[in-house]
Amino acid sequence: MSEFSPCLDCGACCSTFRVSFYWGEADSAPGGLVPERLTEKVTPHLSCMQGTNQPSPRCVALMGDVGDAVRCSIYEKRSSTCREFPFHGENGQDSPDCQRARALHGLPPLPSNPRGPGLIPIVAA
Ligand code: SF4
Repeated sequence: MSEFSPCLDCGACCSTFRVSFYWGEADSAPGGLVPERLTEKVTPHLSCMQGTNQPSPRCVALMGDVGDAVRCSIYEKRSSTCREFPFHGENGQDSPDCQRARALHGLPPLPSNPRGPGLIPIVAA
């Protein structure tokens, strides 16, 4: 049975914020997972996902159309920043960052606490 997730037809967060993280999360570092070829340096200690450090951000790993069907092409290897983003409905909490990102993309706000715990973020196909 599939689980409803507003993330699967959203993607606004991946197209709004600079997705930066400690450079050691890149796969060029011991134990790193994030494909370095999809990142760029921000500072000597920080990297970010390509495409997110610009005026109209869009992560290079995001597939699909924002507000339609989307998925993260590196879901299992995404950074801690992506994993820890408080998506709407997580632990029964609303996410002001989700709502702000959606508004910037002309998407309607999600209902408050739509399903509570159990919602899942964007998943790789
Ligand atoms: S790596 Fe995946 S989850 Fe993270 S911003 Fe890019 S598309 Fe979104």
